[in-house]
Amino acid sequence: MTSFTPEHIYVEKQAEDLPLTRQVLDRCPGVPVETVPSAKELIAALQKQREDAVRGKKKLLLCCSRGRFLDACPGTQRYRCCGYMVLTPGAGCPLDCSYCVLQAYLNNPLITLYANLQDMLEELESVPELRSGSIRRIGTGEFMDSMALEHLTDFASFALPFFRSRPGLVLELKTKTVQIEPLLKLDHGGSYIISWSLNTAGIVAAEEHGAAGLAERIAAAKKVIEKGYRVGFHFDPMIYHEGWEQGYRAVVEMLAENIPPESIAWVSIGALRFMPQLKGIAQRRFPCTRIYTGEFLSGMDGKMRYLQEIRLEMFKKMAGWFKALLPGVFVYFCMENELSWNTSFGSFPTSNAALKDLLDQQLRQ
Ligand code: SF4
Repeated sequence: MTSFTPEHIYVEKQAEDLPLTRQVLDRCPGVPVETVPSAKELIAALQKQREDAVRGKKKLLLCCSRGRFLDACPGTQRYRCCGYMVLTPGAGCPLDCSYCVLQAYLNNPLITLYANLQDMLEELESVPELRSGSIRRIGTGEFMDSMALEHLTDFASFALPFFRSRPGLVLELKTKTVQIEPLLKLDHGGSYIISWSLNTAGIVAAEEHGAAGLAERIAAAKKVIEKGYRVGFHFDPMIYHEGWEQGYRAVVEMLAENIPPESIAWVSIGALRFMPQLKGIAQRRFPCTRIYTGEFLSGMDGKMRYLQEIRLEMFKKMAGWFKALLPGVFVYFCMENELSWNTSFGSFPTSNAALKDLLDQQLRQ
């Protein structure tokens, strides 16, 4: 896979002299740069012109965030959630997965980086729960791929002194790329967990446009493990498709053959779920996708989900393969109900706090 180079860069006036802006512009020689007075007004104007996501994904906006950088994972009401915190140094992604929720979630078509990262550090310094250790896990992969722009930002290197100064706190960098070179040279001290989203080879090829191949991702995981990192894997979304059973089993087998279990911090499983409006948007953008053709029901949170018996069948199989092939590796559900937990694992965390504790415990091993 090739690294992302924008075709056009917008720079918000207020971000013009910030170090990240200067660094990104230095690393994108020859790319047209346009300074704009206000990112908000630019985004509103692009929306009016109906700038589409395909063109938007080729353009970069460097601006200042006026909101919070750190927030609780939005999770979902009435399902078990793990107390994850989300750090947002930008939003948008140069990859293009047909199931990506950002297609319906973001109203900004541009890939956006917040250049006021010093403000981010000041905010992090001011959060008492980061000092007391009651927040243990943070990730940047909620509104972007954590590594897809790393060759421009060096974010991992920038944020490392903060995370190293908080023993027991980890930043999870979640990706579908293999852009790990910047990580290999870091003296990370266990402050980062590098995670890959995985899917069957068929789904990777057909639905995860621009992402690295499955074998490439696993090879990249091996490389970071050699450098002392622990890794995570996320089978989310699991997609019910022809050959799903052989496909997912094959991925678990690849992990068992290539990744030492003690290097795996956690594995999450979640089945495809989406806001109803995503289906129309994704089918217009990806006319060949078949992932929205199945039967779905509206869940307790209003998101569309596979029928319970389909979810249970997939979950039970996955849990069984992990138990057989990678015993001892911690596997959990992202946003699932009691029946899914009990059927697959024979237990159900009694509360969101209990699930948070279970995940936090994985950091002590
Ligand atoms: S890699 Fe993640 S953020 Fe990027 S398009 Fe795919 S699902 Fe969306």
